[in-house]
Amino acid sequence: MTANSEQRVLVIDDSQDIHNLVEVRLRADGITVLHALESTNGLSILRTERVDLVLLDLDLETDNGIDVCRQILSDDEIAMVPIIFLTGTVDIATKVKAFEAGAVDYVTKPFDAVELRARVRAALRTKRYHDLLASRARVDGLTGLGNRSYFDEQLERQLESDRRSGVTTSLIMLDIDHFKSVNDTFGHPFGDMVLQRVADAARAVVRPRDIPCRYGGEEICIVLPETTLDAAEKVAERIRESIQAIALIQHGKPVVVTASLGIAEADSASMPHGVHLLAEADAALYRAKESGRNRVCR
Ligand code: GH3
Ligand code: MG
Ligand code: MG
Repeated sequence: MTANSEQRVLVIDDSQDIHNLVEVRLRADGITVLHALESTNGLSILRTERVDLVLLDLDLETDNGIDVCRQILSDDEIAMVPIIFLTGTVDIATKVKAFEAGAVDYVTKPFDAVELRARVRAALRTKRYHDLLASRARVDGLTGLGNRSYFDEQLERQLESDRRSGVTTSLIMLDIDHFKSVNDTFGHPFGDMVLQRVADAARAVVRPRDIPCRYGGEEICIVLPETTLDAAEKVAERIRESIQAIALIQHGKPVVVTASLGIAEADSASMPHGVHLLAEADAALYRAKESGRNRVCR
């Protein structure tokens, strides 16, 4: 998420008046307001749409807001969304219970528009910092690709979903050829720039849903969801060609950069784990190196 992107607040409340009030107040701040009159609908919006903050009625007619809050926080997919309670109750025991259930704040009804706005903005500010840190934790600083821990997480997640749906995921493992000598000849800053250009080349070739990550020093791994080995081979070949086409000049001479690539396919019937797929791609990469580099092996 970028620093300026629109933020989205979901209101779960059984009173239409509350929805109207919140909508008018927050829309004026450029905040998009989503609406649910009961918790089932609210939970399904949370699971399908991007939401940055929930305003949750503590006194919902159909269920207890505290239970809904616990339900949200126990679901890993949506638990990071902060919750502010809207409550008609002002007794301290109820407020304490709300915080204990995981709410970040509360607003008492009938609420003051200025106070509501201030509390929502404060919670959204914290959410923005949180998202920023979370996205930095997933990105490799040099190349802008996903980092190693993001790769591990995404690969397992993809294989897990393949086990349910029976589709095939493929993996490309790429290693720059003779990269040590690039560093030794032209220096590490130049080597870093080569790494960035190789990452750009890989990123430019793959589809939006593919997941290119920096696996290690000069190794890039790409998870290709719903891709057979034959299709992965074509992608890998395109990446190899675009790396070879990177035109670099140093000390007035052209520097040729190439990479070797290994590909492997996860057979969902045999329920492979990430480590197995990685070992297969790594073995294929080894063959690509052994048989002369600047090539794709399966
Ligand atoms: P091969 O064709 O067999 O892969 O040879 P190679 O020289 O690429 O392989 P080797 O594993 O010996 O060397 C990898 C080099 O990558 C060594 C290391 O200094 C360099 N390297 C790893 N990470 C970085 C980085 O972030 N920046 C730069 N400039 N170099 C890096
Ligand atoms: Mg290497
Ligand atoms: Mg190498």
